[in-house]
Amino acid sequence: MAASDYARPPKNPDSEIWSAAALSEAVRRAGKEATKAGPSTERSQELPYFQRYGIENERGWESSDRTSSPLEVQQRQPYFLESSSLRGEAHPSTTSLGIQARRDFPALAQRVNGHRLIWLDNAATTQKPRVVINKVHRFYETDNSNIHRAAHTLAARATDAYEHARSVVARFLGSQSPEQIVFVRGTTEAINLIAHSAGQRFITEGDEIVVTELEHHSNIVPWQLLCERSGAVLKVLPVDDRGNLRLDALYRVIGGRTKIVAVTQVANSIGTVVPVCAVSAAAHSVGALVVVDGAQSAAHFPVDVTELDADFYAFSGHKVYGPTGIGVLYGKRNLLETMPPWHGGGSMINQVTFERTTYAQIPAKFEAGTGHIAGAVGLAAALEYVDHVGRSAIERHEHVLMEHLLETLEAIPLLRIVANPDVRAGSVSFVVDGFEPARVAAHLDRHGIAVRAGHHCAQPLLRHFGLVATVRPSLGLYNCLEDVETLGACLRRLVRSS
Ligand code: PLP
Repeated sequence: MAASDYARPPKNPDSEIWSAAALSEAVRRAGKEATKAGPSTERSQELPYFQRYGIENERGWESSDRTSSPLEVQQRQPYFLESSSLRGEAHPSTTSLGIQARRDFPALAQRVNGHRLIWLDNAATTQKPRVVINKVHRFYETDNSNIHRAAHTLAARATDAYEHARSVVARFLGSQSPEQIVFVRGTTEAINLIAHSAGQRFITEGDEIVVTELEHHSNIVPWQLLCERSGAVLKVLPVDDRGNLRLDALYRVIGGRTKIVAVTQVANSIGTVVPVCAVSAAAHSVGALVVVDGAQSAAHFPVDVTELDADFYAFSGHKVYGPTGIGVLYGKRNLLETMPPWHGGGSMINQVTFERTTYAQIPAKFEAGTGHIAGAVGLAAALEYVDHVGRSAIERHEHVLMEHLLETLEAIPLLRIVANPDVRAGSVSFVVDGFEPARVAAHLDRHGIAVRAGHHCAQPLLRHFGLVATVRPSLGLYNCLEDVETLGACLRRLVRSS
């Protein structure tokens, strides 16, 4: 089954994901499937800053349609935009997608230790396409300014670029409006923001917060800290020995005291795709809020926060071909509006006196101080690039690669794949008898192959499988069958050497 199908609400409630009586009951109790709200009628955020504030735009610059020299256009056009046959979803062959996309990523043109670089560490971070690098470069060269405050041309350009980026993210996630998009440093910061702010607003002693055994430490530790502050209790949804979330345990763990359910959409260590809609329906049936960690899903298949009925959704720019230090928190409007600010400082206020401060509207309320402006601009370029390639095309391409990767690894003696979830995206973990994971990764690095070895910030899950470390290759849109073949050949050589 395709990862995105697994992640959506079921078209057929009797389908295999939803067959359990408990889940049908959850759907009934939750009332109805999430309904898709129409686009925002509040357009003011999208008006160019210089128009809103009457600033002269002497170079005739337009935020979303900047005039560029033909050379500039050529430099920033990704390969996928040069070839009309490859635009959007129209890929002639899914396996050629990686070969063609690779040309858009300058870092992949280098040789490492004398070999063609094969980047299979995408779950940790992705390489950046030329459009993103150029966009950030050009921003600093021509538009750099602080935003929202100054009445000068560069401030107008920078503000427009930043707010345009917010609209791009909103469209990418299916958010009802750009104001529901808060720029943060990454998934970690987004989850900490929710734990602090929603925690302060909604959590009291004796409440329960539910996470799953699949989580990255970023979706465990902020909740533990909240429990320490508030006297709430952390509960855990278990996985089975194949690495699937135990849906039969949903109603044992989620109950009347549950206030927040925080769940990853894809497990970073073993690639399990979680049927978030099932979890979300169960959580909503008891009135709990649902926090979705999208760090490992946003780059791999289409995501729609409205369809998921997520109360919050977080992802990191650097894992979706964008810059580091920029990420996104999406939240439902009524929640963001009633939650207190997290950080105090400039930009997030309405009025300050020594007696009392009133706060700005969302999203500014949650964006204290100067953010990563160029990062947001680069992130928008990355998401536009991903959409030009086509998220469904990427999903199909990576699915083919994943099948081939699993077959290749299964055929290698002494190698054991960790977990065998029903639906997997992005990552696979394995161990090789007699070889420390770090030694395997170092061997692959000598052949130009980058993979991650370690606990992947998922120690509780690895402990479930009796392990402290694994080797984890993880896929991106620029990987191709040859990358998988080369990985397999290198691993076979290592095993033969034992
Ligand atoms: N959640 C998951 C599932 C992840 O894989 C990661 C990073 O690997 C994070 C959260 C944290 O992301 P960041 O370090 O970008 O904040």
